[in-house]
Amino acid sequence: MANQSTVHIIDDDTAVRESLLALVNMKGLTAKGYSSAESFLSNLQPSDTGCVVCDVRMPGLTGLQLLEKMAERKSTLPVIIITAFADVPTAVRAMQAGAVTFLEKPANDTDLIAAIQQALNLEQAQQALRRQKADVENKLTTLTADEIAVMRKMLEGLPNKRIASDLDIGLRTVELRRSNIMKKMGAGSLAELVRLALLVDFFQADSKGS
Ligand SMILES: [Mg+2]
Repeated sequence: MANQSTVHIIDDDTAVRESLLALVNMKGLTAKGYSSAESFLSNLQPSDTGCVVCDVRMPGLTGLQLLEKMAERKSTLPVIIITAFADVPTAVRAMQAGAVTFLEKPANDTDLIAAIQQALNLEQAQQALRRQKADVENKLTTLTADEIAVMRKMLEGLPNKRIASDLDIGLRTVELRRSNIMKKMGAGSLAELVRLALLVDFFQADSKGS
């Protein structure tokens, strides 16, 4: 499994950083402090999990610039922005750049911990979804081209007889492939198969491919 979830705290003010670290540790969460966005970025691994709590005004990269850099690197870690200079334009820009929460400094402990908890939950849900997608994609690769053809027809909601005539194959063959598809995909019902197909944009891939 990936690294343990870590709350990455970025603030150039040592006192603020230390107190945030202490607060997060007190809640039983793992935290790591950085004095600049640059030092955080140079340590950032694709496998990192958790969330980021970041100051806006710092020498070097600002919190908003960090959001852009993280997007460039396709990092999906949720970012909470905290600033002593909260104003509407900055808040809007932060949210547009992908921040999940914007808090004014000094943020009260309860609000900050709630925001962190929410960010960690979001990141876990994203991870679970990515794992599920990868799992469905893997299962799809086990289907033969013939089975894929039948699956497309099934997802159009066509009955077996119609699938047989459309693909010019026997009814028994359709039934066999259908049961193979359900087994390989681990789907208990057609509705379940549709849900799995939607998860990996199977329909879109289909329309592009044909
Ligand atoms: Mg600062």
